[in-house]
Order: sequence, then structure tokens, then C-alpha cells
Amino acid sequence: MGSDADIVSAARVSYGDGTKSVSQDRGLIRYLVSHRHTSPIEMAEVKLHIKMPIFIMRQWVRHRTASLNEYSGRYSIMSDEFYRPTGEALAAQSVINNQGRGEQFDDSTQEWVEDTMGEAFDDAYEAYQRLVTPSEGYPGLARELARTVMPVSNYTELYWKQDLHNLLHLIKLRRDSHAQKEIQAYAEAVHMLIKPLFPLTIEAWEDYVWYGHHMSRMEGELMQLILQTDMALQTYVDRAGGEKEFAERRGMSLRELRAFRERWKV
Ligand SMILES: Cc1cc2nc3c(=O)[nH]c(=O)nc-3n(C[C@H](O)[C@H](O)[C@H](O)COP(=O)(O)OP(=O)(O)OC[C@H]3O[C@@H](n4cnc5c(N)ncnc54)[C@H](O)[C@@H]3O)c2cc1C
Repeated sequence: MGSDADIVSAARVSYGDGTKSVSQDRGLIRYLVSHRHTSPIEMAEVKLHIKMPIFIMRQWVRHRTASLNEYSGRYSIMSDEFYRPTGEALAAQSVINNQGRGEQFDDSTQEWVEDTMGEAFDDAYEAYQRLVTPSEGYPGLARELARTVMPVSNYTELYWKQDLHNLLHLIKLRRDSHAQKEIQAYAEAVHMLIKPLFPLTIEAWEDYVWYGHHMSRMEGELMQLILQTDMALQTYVDRAGGEKEFAERRGMSLRELRAFRERWKV
């Protein structure tokens, strides 16, 4: 709802005639995004009809600046569709990141995991159906109670309406590689879906926010050190006696230093 033009009109209210130099639409939008003047970007809205597993919706609804209306499991029969991860989506618990996946499984382990998950989903849905279905002498359990046997992989549906600024914030956080893979897929899909609707705003957002980088004070200082001298970062690390010692000296944790090196390939 709305377009780049609505964002531009809203911005012109605050800039009036005094800012001819940024008054071209594309330039004005890029100025807004790069200076975090975000309120004009709230003037466009997106309304989505989404179907997602309950465990993803639980992450999605942490974004508080939206209006939503969800399928009612009190009123209606729960769907018999479950998210059934297969292939590369299945991996072992990561040993370095408590909130992530590690090694891929071999074929037979993968098959066992798929079967075990599948059986659990099928058993749960069968129990749900038995509970809600009336039979002789049994009136059927209230749907609002029967649904409690359903796993969080069950699909739900919702309408989701959010202004463009806050939706882009959601995409930034949830398309990020640190987010769970399944929500990344939703965030990517929404990103691609809305891109043609707000081409100038999303182009600017991609340039300044999505592909932009935020740096801590320590990272900025490290970047300066690298740019102002001819020495490779590894030389400084070696001189300090190793990564741990170098990180300590720069007021960083080892994890922060490694993340910096990984990000900038230095
Ligand atoms: C990778 C990842 C891992 C996460 N892990 C967990 C977890 O383990 N457990 C968990 O509980 N959550 C977790 N979260 C959720 C996270 O803590 C945030 O709640 C969620 O990402 C919403 O972010 P937000 O508040 O910026 O966004 P929104 O709720 O969409 O808010 C948008 C912006 O509005 C403003 N705003 C909204 N509400 C308020 C308020 N009450 N006061 C002040 N400003 C407000 C803020 O500027 C905010 O950035 C995780 C999120 C990510 C991306």
C-alpha cells in the first residue's frame, strides 16, 4: 500500500522548498535512508497473507510493530500440514554455536531423523483427530484443548500488515545468516516480493543497510590500523604472540576478532 512516491511526498512536507538539491526522488530517498530519517518510510505499508510453521511464527511475531490476524485453532480444525525438513535442512547440533546447526548427516542418519520426525507428526495429528471427532458416547474434545497435542511444526496462516520501515528492519534481522535457516527463507521471499513495489526505497536500503556494515569502536580502530599501514593484520597478531593476546590488547574478545577477520578477510 503506497509507493516510493508516497515516501517522497511525506519527506517533502518536512523539507519543503528549501532542499532543492536533494529533491530528485531517488536522491531524496537515498538521503533519507542513509541518514536514518525513517519516518517517511513508514508511510508505505505491506499486507501479506503468509502460511508458516508455528515455530517460525513464534519468531516472526517478536517483531512488535505490525498488525496481524491468525487462523483460529479454537474455531477451526488445525491443518494437517507439517514442516518436514529433509536433505540439507537436517544437520547436527552445532558444537560452536548453541543457536545453530553443524555437520551434515550421512544418508542413513538423515533417513532415520526424517522417519522419526514424520512418525511424531503423524501420531500427533492422529491423536488430534481422535480427540476432536465425536463418536458414540463421546462428544469430541473442544478444539481449543485438542490443539495442544499439535507440534510446533504444524502450519498456521496469518495476515500480517507492517509499515515498510519496520518490515525492512524485520528482513534485516531475519534474512541475516545468524537467524534460523527457515525464517531466513521467509525473510528472503518477502524481500524479493516487495522489491519491485518500492524499487527506489529498497535499492537505497540494500545499499546503505542490507549491504552496509556497522562497526564497533574497536573494529573501526582496527580498520584504520590496516588502512594506514602496509602491514597485514597477521603481522600484528604474530607480534602480539597470537590472536588471543592481540584481541585482549585491542579490547576485543577472541570471538569478536575472529568475526572481524572473517568478515573482512584480513
Ligand atoms: C538471530 C536472532 C536471535 C534471537 N534470539 C532470541 C532468543 O533467543 N530469545 C528471544 O526471546 N528473542 C530472540 N530474538 C528476538 C530479538 O530479541 C527481538 O525481540 C526481535 O528480533 C525483534 O527485534 P526488534 O525489537 O528490533 O523489532 P520490533 O519488535 O519489530 O521493533 C522494531 C523497533 O521498534 C522499536 N521498539 C519496538 N518496541 C519497543 C519497545 N517496547 N521499547 C522501545 N523500542 C521499541 C525498536 O527500535 C525496535 O528496533 C532473536 C532475534 C534474532 C534476529
